[in-house]
Amino acid sequence: MKLMIASAIDATNQFFPLAFAVTKEVSVDSWRWFLTRIREKVTQRQGICLISSPDPDILAVINEPGSQWKEPWAYHRFCLDHLCSKFCSVFPGFDYNLHYLVSEAGSSSQKEEFDSNMKEIKEKNPEVWKWLDQFPPHQWALAHDDGRRYGIMKIDTEALFAVCKRFRKVAMAGGVMLLFGKLRDAFDVSFSSSRGSLNRGDVYTEHVMEKLEEFDTDSVTCVVTPLERDAFEVSTVSKKKKRYMGVVEVSTRGIVQLNDSTCTCGKFQRKKFTCLHALGVCDKLNVNPLQYVDDFYTLERYHKTYAATFSPVPKLSAWLEACGVPTLLPPVIEPPPPKVSGKFRRWKEIEDDHLEEDEEEEDGDDDDNDEEDDDDEEDEEDDDVDDDEEDEW
Ligand SMILES: [Zn+2]
Repeated sequence: MKLMIASAIDATNQFFPLAFAVTKEVSVDSWRWFLTRIREKVTQRQGICLISSPDPDILAVINEPGSQWKEPWAYHRFCLDHLCSKFCSVFPGFDYNLHYLVSEAGSSSQKEEFDSNMKEIKEKNPEVWKWLDQFPPHQWALAHDDGRRYGIMKIDTEALFAVCKRFRKVAMAGGVMLLFGKLRDAFDVSFSSSRGSLNRGDVYTEHVMEKLEEFDTDSVTCVVTPLERDAFEVSTVSKKKKRYMGVVEVSTRGIVQLNDSTCTCGKFQRKKFTCLHALGVCDKLNVNPLQYVDDFYTLERYHKTYAATFSPVPKLSAWLEACGVPTLLPPVIEPPPPKVSGKFRRWKEIEDDHLEEDEEEEDGDDDDNDEEDDDDEEDEEDDDVDDDEEDEW
């Protein structure tokens, strides 16, 4: 059985599960069922941005006549990580430098940088360039996105499945119920905490305020030069902590047009959040930068995100079976055999020598499974350590 999850991103850039389904196999039919149900039951909003892997089955469903996941109903984008993985599978024994260039072309917020990376890819390997060229740039490159994806380039798979991490040993039907309960509790907590902040008079999330404070307290040197037509040229030098490199000085440059909420660095218009250069101009002009931060980042939006009500799930016996939903039944678990003298024995007396041999083989299998489970637990610990990722805005 496979678990399908659709996740959304809240005003603090955190992933939260929006819908989930269990299916025997992932196919065009199961994607159609899942994506159609999301439109029916979860969101009918127009202009939504859908980020997925460049999976041919997903593409087939999205491009079907009458699909609610095509423009202008929705804007389909690709996860850059999944696109890079596809590149690795299409070009086995790939060149790491090319992989880096594909990733850079996708994540750069400036069209000039995108063009320069694509030119280099074409010079190094025309086949890779041709393969990339089949995907429209607005679907995988931030520089061509028009702000639809709010700078979100990758699906954080770990965050996506974090909510069901502890359910792997639970029967499928029980797992679905636990997941549902866990989601309801998480929604309740976020809804209540944001109501408290709104009552205190806060307008933007704490995350936004912290980001703005970083600009004030960080050692950012900013030179702002006025240009024609209310534009400003801004040069910044700041100290940043980089993994494996320690603290390094980073220089940037951008031309800001506050009235249009744009900067030549591209981040202002793509993320709809004041970039470092725009913050420099606001500081120089002594204006509040929050007026240039998109409503998406407000506490009110955050509060509304978690205001959804969860209808009680009917008893398992009342679940419909003839509506296309796979029937979820707990697996049959046989009672464990009694342990005799450190070895497992069957319930009945074993007289047949052949049966005795079979028994020993099964014991061996059990040991293997135990080792596998231990490995899983170690993986979970490793995952926690890796949570300290650099926060990109
Ligand atoms: Zn900028």
